[in-house]
Amino acid sequence: MDKIFSVETSSPMQTMQVGEKLAKTVKRGVVFTLKGDLGAGKTHFVKGFVKGLGCNALVTSPTFTLLNVYEGGDFTVYHFDMYRLSSLEEAVELGFSEYFDLNSLDGVVFVEWPENVDGLIKCPHIEIEIQKIDDNRRKIIVGSVK
Ligand code: ADP
Ligand code: MG
Repeated sequence: MDKIFSVETSSPMQTMQVGEKLAKTVKRGVVFTLKGDLGAGKTHFVKGFVKGLGCNALVTSPTFTLLNVYEGGDFTVYHFDMYRLSSLEEAVELGFSEYFDLNSLDGVVFVEWPENVDGLIKCPHIEIEIQKIDDNRRKIIVGSVK
């Protein structure tokens, strides 16, 4: 991972704002992975990003649905949560590989718990790691993976 920037936030709203700002600088065709413990703020980050695209969709953790799709903004957001998966094979069987082909991707992809599907994301992507500092503070580290 080549670090691009890191930033500290001290509220869920601030984490959303980082996502919102990022949305204004990104074009379609980008894959983002989101690493961090349960409750780190991964879903809040996506919430902000989706808002930044001008989309009013309700963003919730796709823990049970595995994939939420948000339309109505500048482009479509595919939001995965791999928490309940435990292998690359499961993700492939569910047909998820197609989302990680940058030649055909028509929006952007976010993947919570990418560690659970190691080997699925072979394309270049942006890795976002959120570390808990204390109850309300988070460190967000953004980097690129070739
Ligand atoms: P994850 O998707 O990583 O499991 P969520 O975004 O669903 O995390 O939840 C993050 C939790 O942490 C929420 O309860 C939120 O209110 C809380 N929180 C406290 N401080 C922050 C912060 N600085 N950034 C993001 N979330 C925060
Ligand atoms: Mg989540």
